[in-house]
Amino acid sequence: MCKNERRFCRCGRNSAFLLLRDNLLFPEILIDLYCPLCQDQAVWDETAMLRDCGWILEYDLDGAQGLLQQQGVRGPVTPEFIFDEDYLSWQGLSPGDQDMNAALHRRLAPLIEQNLSQYLQSMKNEWLRHVAELKAAGWRKARKA
Ligand SMILES: [Zn+2]
Repeated sequence: MCKNERRFCRCGRNSAFLLLRDNLLFPEILIDLYCPLCQDQAVWDETAMLRDCGWILEYDLDGAQGLLQQQGVRGPVTPEFIFDEDYLSWQGLSPGDQDMNAALHRRLAPLIEQNLSQYLQSMKNEWLRHVAELKAAGWRKARKA
């Protein structure tokens, strides 16, 4: 089971949906979240932070290490490990994925009754285009998708 959680950034102008794989970590393990507009407020610390296309995630590394070890997860817990293993990362490939997906569904919904196969095809094409854009922009999860 994975739980979704929306978190606003430090300045409150943007938000991201978080993915907590298997719910091993709590949302509070993400001490702070900075969007491209407020990233300047972060005091960069590579041992606790991860950068992704102008966003910065700041983790409570000690807390994360304790929780993961308790549940039998081995390996050195780093921001990259937490993010790449989805213990606490973006839901989807970027902070805006959830909203983008919802908007796409809304936009294409009228097609469902008109032409289902065209709907499915459009959905697939639009999504692939979205992923290609994220990949080109350099989003960390998209690069591996
Ligand atoms: Zn912000």
